[in-house]
Amino acid sequence: MILECFFPDIYVKSVYELPLAELKARGIRGLVFDIDNTVAPFDIAEPENDLIELFLFLRKQGFRLCILSNNNKERVQLFNKNLKTLAVHKAGKPGVRKLRLALKKLKLSAENTAMVGDQVFTDMWCGHRAGLTCILTAPICNRDQLVTKVKRGLEKQVLKVYFKRNRK
Ligand SMILES: [Mg+2]
Repeated sequence: MILECFFPDIYVKSVYELPLAELKARGIRGLVFDIDNTVAPFDIAEPENDLIELFLFLRKQGFRLCILSNNNKERVQLFNKNLKTLAVHKAGKPGVRKLRLALKKLKLSAENTAMVGDQVFTDMWCGHRAGLTCILTAPICNRDQLVTKVKRGLEKQVLKVYFKRNRK
């Protein structure tokens, strides 16, 4: 069914709740993170200390990390100044060209990498198209860029079906 291209493989409330043991068991060695409303509010320019620490922790756990944002170079570079990780801007998600570039930078294959993002029509679809494990987070705040706001209504419908099916 077409909806499945938008469904996550794993759902978490935030990036601080990534199921690291499960990811390792699935053979995941790299994480590709969306920025806006996944690891930071879209209108906050720099990462909070907790996020910088999370990235250090994930690296210590053996994960390779990359940020992949549809946002512009200035936004991504400034955000990455203290995060100091691999980064790709103007990703054009759900297009997969830049995601493949991110995998190249990570020196990992799609099977060993997970995509982490807050939007089903960009992050989840992009990740699935390239063959990655897809992890959806709840958006970090309920402020959104206009274009995202428009997509959220439709997204809600998709997630309603997803959560209904995955009800425990
Ligand atoms: Mg986002």
